[in-house]
Amino acid sequence: MSGLLSTQYVQGVYIPSALLIVGTAIVKKEWLPFAAALAVVLGAWKAYGNVPRKVLKPNEFQEFPLKEKTILSHNTAIYRLALPRQTDILGLPIGQHISLAATIAGKEVVRSYTPISSDEDHGYIDLLIKSYPTGNISKHVASLAVGQTIKVRGPKGAMVYTPNLVRHFGMIAGGTGITPMLQIIKAILRGRAAGDKTEVDLIFANVNPEDILLKEDIDAIAAKDPKFRVHYVLNNPPENWAGGVGFVTADMIKAKLPAPASDVKILMCGPPPMISALKKATEGLGYQKARPVSKLEDQVFCF
Ligand SMILES: Cc1cc2nc3c(=O)[nH]c(=O)nc-3n(C[C@H](O)[C@H](O)[C@H](O)COP(=O)(O)OP(=O)(O)OC[C@H]3O[C@@H](n4cnc5c(N)ncnc54)[C@H](O)[C@@H]3O)c2cc1C
Repeated sequence: MSGLLSTQYVQGVYIPSALLIVGTAIVKKEWLPFAAALAVVLGAWKAYGNVPRKVLKPNEFQEFPLKEKTILSHNTAIYRLALPRQTDILGLPIGQHISLAATIAGKEVVRSYTPISSDEDHGYIDLLIKSYPTGNISKHVASLAVGQTIKVRGPKGAMVYTPNLVRHFGMIAGGTGITPMLQIIKAILRGRAAGDKTEVDLIFANVNPEDILLKEDIDAIAAKDPKFRVHYVLNNPPENWAGGVGFVTADMIKAKLPAPASDVKILMCGPPPMISALKKATEGLGYQKARPVSKLEDQVFCF
């Protein structure tokens, strides 16, 4: 049960207030107005305290401590950052991302990351980050010990997903480029019961089989949701590989993703050389030309 009839309110507000008022009525009737006023103040304080607070500030970096690190492979981990209060949420619209910053060799370096957690999760955010040996922020984050902080600012980005924004998404992700796609896919799944009918076809490209991030989660979604399909592509496939091989090509896009239409969007996120090749490929297939910096209304949107 939710709202004003929830167990939380019955046990946390109504029962204590009733006990306070009845107890006062028994012990000293003339104090009843004060007891009633106190019950109202305590109830309001409890109700206000339970409203999740959005903590992100678009123009100000805030320091959030590393709470937990879950290692997925030699260069990839899920970093859980604690928000100031356990009831806090990030306040990140679906489709947008955050900036992480650190001072490295005397210079402030800022990079974009899309949490794999959402505003359904209270008190923390989860970031899936792949560290590069010569990277700046990704390497810095990997060096953090639990309790050390990192600077966070946001929200940022031109994509804001709302249910049934389009009829059909074609998504192309390379490596950690999967994170903005997953954020939207998970929001679509959460919205199914309320009528989100969006179809999604995802091409997920990686170098080696062990680089495929969150494969179990993605396969579980594909098994459960008939409107979501995934096509994996590998540069170095194992024997008996059923997916695609090599780079993502125009032929693959034509075979696996929705054809150009006014109610279709292609979303892309991956390393810059992959994105510039895909911009050309999609244009050649008849999708509208991608802009250098994407806008929400674009048919081909690059994060
Ligand atoms: C919208 C958006 C969301 C993103 N979300 C995530 C996310 O959730 N998780 C995540 O891990 N990343 C994500 N990224 C990528 C992230 O922003 C950084 O580009 C990445 O972490 C590298 O930053 P860096 O400071 O460590 O390296 P940089 O300082 O940018 O690069 C330094 C050197 O590191 C190496 N390097 C950096 N990137 C690559 C690469 N892709 N392939 C090979 N070598 C590389 C190169 O040698 C490069 O010269 C996202 C990017 C965008 C635009």
